[in-house]
Amino acid sequence: MHDTLEGREERFVRDRLHKVSRHIVEWSHQFENPCIVFEDLKEMRDSIDYGTRMNRRLHHLPFRALQYYTSYKAAFEGVPTAWIDPEYTSQQCPMCGHTERANRNKKRFKCCSCQHQDHADRSASVNIAVKGIGKHQDWNVPALNSLPQVRKISTERRSLS
Ligand SMILES: [Zn+2]
Repeated sequence: MHDTLEGREERFVRDRLHKVSRHIVEWSHQFENPCIVFEDLKEMRDSIDYGTRMNRRLHHLPFRALQYYTSYKAAFEGVPTAWIDPEYTSQQCPMCGHTERANRNKKRFKCCSCQHQDHADRSASVNIAVKGIGKHQDWNVPALNSLPQVRKISTERRSLS
């Protein structure tokens, strides 16, 4: 086994993703009928607006892996998940529906129509949740065998015991 920098980095990232995805699913249990909605990732990078250096680093983060880890952990616990088209989720006002690019300025959301203010990510999250609930009238939990296979599950089990 090669203990390369890449190998260590990959294990570190994977462990982190497992921790974060576990937190997301645990957190969802505070709600009565929890569901978890993800942005379809194609445009996710465009909606992340940090500095150039941070952007470059974030582009290497496996967001998709985080979504998959979260979705299969959620499926194990009977929590449904869904993916939605992220278009306008960062520009639309969750209070009045007014959609305009100028509503958002970096991390700040301020509706040009009703003056509603929020953190830009939280505002977008509300829109994502509403979109997901609107899209899926009948939630169902995906069958476990329909989810992507997770490699090295035997290693994970061993390290858990
Ligand atoms: Zn508004």
